[in-house]
Order: sequence, then C-alpha cells, then structure tokens
Amino acid sequence: MVEDREAVVLEEAMAKDEKLQESTTTYKKKGKKGKKGSKTKNDNKGSDGGIREYKLVNYEDLPDYMKENEFIQKYYRSEWPISHAFLSLFSWHNETLNVWTHLLGFLLFLGLTVMQLSDMPQVADLLGHLHGSFSPKAAGNVSLNQGSLFSLASPPNNHDHLQPDITSAHHRPANTATAPRWPFLVFLFGSMVCLITSSLCHLLCCHSRRLNLLLNRLDYAGIAVMIAASFFPPISYAFLCTPRWRFFYLSSISFLAVLTVLSLLAPKFTHGSYRAFRALLFSAMGLTGLVPAVHITVVNWSESRKMETMACEAAMATFYLVGTAFYVSRVPEKWRPGRFDMAGHSHQIFHVFVVAGALAHYVAAQLFLEWRDEVSCGGRT
Ligand SMILES: [Zn+2]
Repeated sequence: MVEDREAVVLEEAMAKDEKLQESTTTYKKKGKKGKKGSKTKNDNKGSDGGIREYKLVNYEDLPDYMKENEFIQKYYRSEWPISHAFLSLFSWHNETLNVWTHLLGFLLFLGLTVMQLSDMPQVADLLGHLHGSFSPKAAGNVSLNQGSLFSLASPPNNHDHLQPDITSAHHRPANTATAPRWPFLVFLFGSMVCLITSSLCHLLCCHSRRLNLLLNRLDYAGIAVMIAASFFPPISYAFLCTPRWRFFYLSSISFLAVLTVLSLLAPKFTHGSYRAFRALLFSAMGLTGLVPAVHITVVNWSESRKMETMACEAAMATFYLVGTAFYVSRVPEKWRPGRFDMAGHSHQIFHVFVVAGALAHYVAAQLFLEWRDEVSCGGRT
C-alpha cells in the first residue's frame, strides 16, 4: 500500500517535471518570436504564465519602479531579457532617442580624445615608433616632452605659489616644453564616462528592478564624474603656477562629487518624484564653478583671450541650465501627454543640451590649453 502511494507520488512528480521542461522550451521559443512582433500587441504576458512575448506596453502596465514620467504614455519596454533590451538599440521605443543622443555624444568625444592623443608629441612618437619609423629627431622630441604629460604636480621653475598668473606670465619661446595634457584628458574621459553610462542606463534599465537601480546609480555617478572632470582643464591651466589654489579647487570639487554620489545611493532618490532634488544637487555642484571662474577672471583681467574663453564657459552653463529646466519641468510632454512619447520629449532635449554644453566646454578647455602652451610661470620657461 505504502509502495503504491510512493509510486503515485513519483509519477506525479515526473509529470510535473516534464510539464515544467515543456513550459521552459516554449518560453524560449516564444521569447525569440516576440522580438519580431513586438510592436503589434500590447499584452506582455501569455495566458499560460510561462509564455512571454516582449511587447511595448503602456505607462499603466509598468511596474512601480519604472513609473517615472506619466506624461509619456506608450511604447515602454518592461522587464525585457537583457539580450532583447540590448537589441532594442536598433528598434523604436520611447527610449531610442535617449540612448542614441548620448551614444553619438560618446562617439563624438571618443573621436576628440583620439584627436587629442594623436596631437600629443609623446603619443605621436610612440605611434611612429610602433610603425617602425622611429627617428633620432623623434627620440629628441620624446626626451624634450617626456615631463609634460604628467608634470603638473611640479610646474617648471615655480617657486612663488601664490603669484598671480598673468602678472608673472611669460610667453614661451618656440620649441620649449608645452603645458601638461592630462587635465584635458581627464575632462574628455569624464565626459565619455557620463555619456556611455547614461546611454547604457536608458538602454538596459528596462530589464529588472535590480539592474534599473544599479544603472540609475551609475548614471548619477557618471554625471558627477563629468561635472568634476570639467573643472580639471580650466583650474589646472589657470592655476598652473599657483599649486595651492589648484589643489584647493580640484580637491573640493572631487570631494563634492563623492558626496553627491553617496547621497544619491538611497533607492528612493532614483524615483521620478526626486527629479528636482537630483537636478538641484548636480546644478549646485556645477555652479560652485562660479567661484574659481571669478577668481580666474580677476587674476587674469588683462589677458586678451579672457572674453572668448569666458563666453564659451557661459555658453556651457547656459546649455546645462536650460537642459536641466527641460528635465525638471517635463516640457513639452506635460502640455500634450502622449504626443511626444517617441520623439521630442523633455529628456531627449535635455540630452542634446548636455552634449552641447560639453562641446562648449571643450572649446573653452582648448583655449585654456593654447594659452598655457604659450604662457609659462614666473617669467621663467
Ligand atoms: Zn538621461
């Protein structure tokens, strides 16, 4: 009797196991199919519970953690497998332009970084060396410039730490060591980190609650890194001859960046209702740049390129602030909910302004670098 009962239980367990395997196979097959027909249906779950077809869904069908902007009503991806989310890079949904605006921005800054690196004598020489075209002249260039890439900690012949820059400025003769490049590269790298983390966040945060939280935190960290990195070229070049000020400003902004990221680690801050708080935190971080900006302007009051450099920095600040205003206000989708789901909503406009702001700062950083290439410290080159 007991044996009979055990046999029945065993049979039932085997039947259950078979059913489960069948259901898993169907899930995989249907998952592949779902990718093709994803725009035709709104239902995200199959009736048997094991089948999921990955469709674009409406705002009200989203899990709570994805409900970020109620004025964007349709074309959401919800809890898609990572492969589907990744391939959605090439299909239309309400995040497509958010992903591409910052992905193209990343590629643009990657190109600018390559340009910057190929412009550096060290890298040009290294490339020449790798291509077997190393010459005695190139060897001379390497030794002449080898200090300049990492030499900021001890600028050449500087003894007066609090000496104003322009009053002691000296125009370098040709063929002398140039200003260090690494502060410029820090800015380019910081911009690329921000743009690629943002792009990845928009592409993959539809996968799961856990990944959504992780990618949002990475996105915020990327923004903080970009803001802090943007301080490096102007402060490093303007205060090349005054290391105390340089250290004070760069360590302050780095500390603020860490503080900002830490304060945004709490999961509740990723929610849409904290949009204004996040914007305020990042704007405040960026606006601390006004203090060194005023300092630089006062110290270099007689510098002829001051106006165009500051005009570029003012353009950067304007782009960032106008972009942030779109981000917080959720204009224009707020005025006509559902009308801008695919294209033209506030977050896409914000992304374009972020890239424009970074480009304006690139031009300003280039002007700072060119100036510092010509003007050295303390009348000594
Ligand atoms: Zn974004």
